[in-house]
Amino acid sequence: MIPSVLPTYNRAPLNFVKGEGSWMIEADGRRFLDLGAGIAVNVLGHANPILVEALTEQAGKLWHVSNLYQIPQQQALADKLVENSFADTVFFTNSGTEACELAVKMARKYWYDKGQPEKIEIIGCEGAFHGRSSAGIAAAGGEKLTKGFAPLLPGFKHVPWLDWDALKEAISDKTAAVIVEPVQGEGGIRPMPDADMRALREICDEAGILLILDEVQCGVGRTGKLFAYEWAGITPDIMMVAKGIGGGFPLGAVLASEEAASGMTAGTHGSTYGGNPLGCAVGNAVMDVVATPEFLDDVSRKSGLLRQKLEGLVAAHPEVFEEVRGVGLMLGLKCKAVNIDVVNAGYDAQVAIVPAADNVVRLLPPLTISEDEISEAVSRLDKAAEQVAAAKD
Ligand SMILES: *Cc1c(COP(=O)(O)O)cnc(C)c1O
Repeated sequence: MIPSVLPTYNRAPLNFVKGEGSWMIEADGRRFLDLGAGIAVNVLGHANPILVEALTEQAGKLWHVSNLYQIPQQQALADKLVENSFADTVFFTNSGTEACELAVKMARKYWYDKGQPEKIEIIGCEGAFHGRSSAGIAAAGGEKLTKGFAPLLPGFKHVPWLDWDALKEAISDKTAAVIVEPVQGEGGIRPMPDADMRALREICDEAGILLILDEVQCGVGRTGKLFAYEWAGITPDIMMVAKGIGGGFPLGAVLASEEAASGMTAGTHGSTYGGNPLGCAVGNAVMDVVATPEFLDDVSRKSGLLRQKLEGLVAAHPEVFEEVRGVGLMLGLKCKAVNIDVVNAGYDAQVAIVPAADNVVRLLPPLTISEDEISEAVSRLDKAAEQVAAAKD
């Protein structure tokens, strides 16, 4: 019999009933160190008093009004994002998938309004993830996402990760934009080297097409910069954000330059909940903490510490792990053992990590994780690795 919850997830038998900072507490009282953070969502940890205050204060005033009216919290958050990024304008969504939908629509509308309606094609990279909507799965293109869901939204092409010759070959008179993640998340924590990011920007400029960055997972401080594109010193034309921006409240956004957004006039797009007062109250509080040099420097410092300890872990368990990769607090351990076995052994050691493609386990802790918690996390991962190694023998 089908479960009452549609069984599209392989769920671990864990019932978390409370969160405190970097910790999740199971119904039976066990405390788990959270190195998943709801998949890069809880950037300020669980039940952060600043976010609890922002949400409950707003909840006592006004939960929801339509985008037919001014929403001051939304205006404030848009101003903050514009001030702290390449963007001139922002549209708020409830999720990363919805941000992908708008990014695709915006790129196509741009060319339509320029009198080049034939430019509809968007080129993505193999191994990508852009969400589960029809546009999202078509943009990513992988068989795991698309199989059985034909007909797919037309107008998408894919090239191998970092294969710029293949990209140049794929660009035609019909190309509207390229879409990439600066750090592939679901694809196995694959950062795009800065030189490649600059090469990509150059190719888009030469071809006169738009560059869409998907920073849904790697944005909002995760890499040690507010947005990952900053590392390469380039700017995109359109950018998708979600996950961390709401700190656990469903919130996403599309950021764009004035030029790229020029087709999106009144009536061309909308959302009932997007940018609602509750979500934006939390988003403002997240930005006030994360978008400061001190906070971002701290992420980089802790990244160095975690990375160094993970290198030690890999060296101690060469039969379980192959290498550490990633940037900031978006790190991956490429496994020799089966990654799911490592995740499950992590549960036994009361540390939560997240599997990704390419036999990788992801570490995406709250950006507020402490040095002591980093040490504790790695010692728990060490225990998990011992268990995996013992089971292998
Ligand atoms: C999670 C994710 C999405 C989809 O976001 P949802 O909020 O789950 O719809 C899109 N792109 C990337 C890179 C993601 O990691």
